[in-house]
Amino acid sequence: MYDVYEIRKDFPNLSLKINGKPNTFMDTAASAQKPLPVLNKMLEAYTVYYANVHRGVYYMSEKITHEYENARKIVQEFINAASEKEVVFTRSTTEAINLVAASWGCKNIRAGDEIVISEAEHHANLVPWQVLRNKTGCCLKIFKINDDGSYNKEEFEECLTANTKLVAVTAMSNILGTIFPIKEIAAAAHKVGALCLVDAGQAASHMPLNVQELDCDFLAFSGHKTYGPTGIGVLYGKSAILSDMPPYQTGGDMVEKVTYKEPIFAEPPARFEAGTPAIVQAIGLGEALKYMQNLGMDNIYKHEQELIAYANQKFKTVEGLKIIGSAPLKGGVFCFTLDNIHPQDVAFILDKEGVSVRTGHHCAEPLVNRMGYASLARASTGLYTTEEDIDNFVKALQKAKTFF
Ligand code: PMP
Repeated sequence: MYDVYEIRKDFPNLSLKINGKPNTFMDTAASAQKPLPVLNKMLEAYTVYYANVHRGVYYMSEKITHEYENARKIVQEFINAASEKEVVFTRSTTEAINLVAASWGCKNIRAGDEIVISEAEHHANLVPWQVLRNKTGCCLKIFKINDDGSYNKEEFEECLTANTKLVAVTAMSNILGTIFPIKEIAAAAHKVGALCLVDAGQAASHMPLNVQELDCDFLAFSGHKTYGPTGIGVLYGKSAILSDMPPYQTGGDMVEKVTYKEPIFAEPPARFEAGTPAIVQAIGLGEALKYMQNLGMDNIYKHEQELIAYANQKFKTVEGLKIIGSAPLKGGVFCFTLDNIHPQDVAFILDKEGVSVRTGHHCAEPLVNRMGYASLARASTGLYTTEEDIDNFVKALQKAKTFF
């Protein structure tokens, strides 16, 4: 059984007070809190067997190399990749997408080629393609979403042509919460001979992801949003595609052999992990994914869907509250406006009530503008969010209204 109150015991800061009020953390979409097993695993790595990986023949180096490579196996299982060789450790979702744009993109994209993304992309899945377009002269097509934030199949399919080389879409929007039908999108991309990249930066902590079932070619996510540490992320890529890609960065650990004349690059994933990696962060990420798997991704998803239903009812009691993004299929992300109060002011008052929300364009400026705003406040849920958190949030919104 999914016992959210038991789960919260693993997150000590959630039971602290903020400004004398219960800590109502509603900013998990920006970065998730870390459970004790993840912190303990990282402490163990630093205090019991810390050393560099892939280098030594001594006990601690072998032990930590084993733990680091075991984390890769955990990621493989988490996303059901066919092989752990398809799992590249990066710094983040952002770096994973930049890696694909720089390596695969520069090798395969020419003037006249087309890359298709949605209107709902985070800057991390927009700017790298704009930069690639500026370098290569390719065309970046952006398909429209519906006004309620939902996916528009016709708009997407109209963008596909024989020139489409890549479709890069988010699996879940960090603004609207919209969950995109990745399997269907990947199949449509493949039909015209294009590859499909999935930005799972938000999705990875909310729902089960099975790359073989989705049949996507690349998938990216970050450790810090999946209850693990910052500084670590994942790029999944199909073996045959990764093998054909040039390195992103060069230096130590990514080579098979080096002479003064030439380097011979290692096979993936090592080819894409130049230099000393984020060793303990990778181990922490592995533990975080295990933590979520123990709870069950289906259970995490179900808990969140129940919370969304509860929240939607509660939101109706706040006059002047407008939620931006009401796609039928969405995760626990609620961008909102409250009357005409500036989002920054709302967030400031909420904080006084112990409620943490984020404001601004949330690194998706064109999307916030497309929805008709310059800035939005955002509340978001995690696997530890309770109905009481929603109640506290709603009460704080009521209070904010009394100030204006
Ligand atoms: N994509 C989405 C959908 C996101 O929500 C985020 C983080 N807000 C990113 C990409 C970028 O993640 P990171 O900053 O960890 O690289």
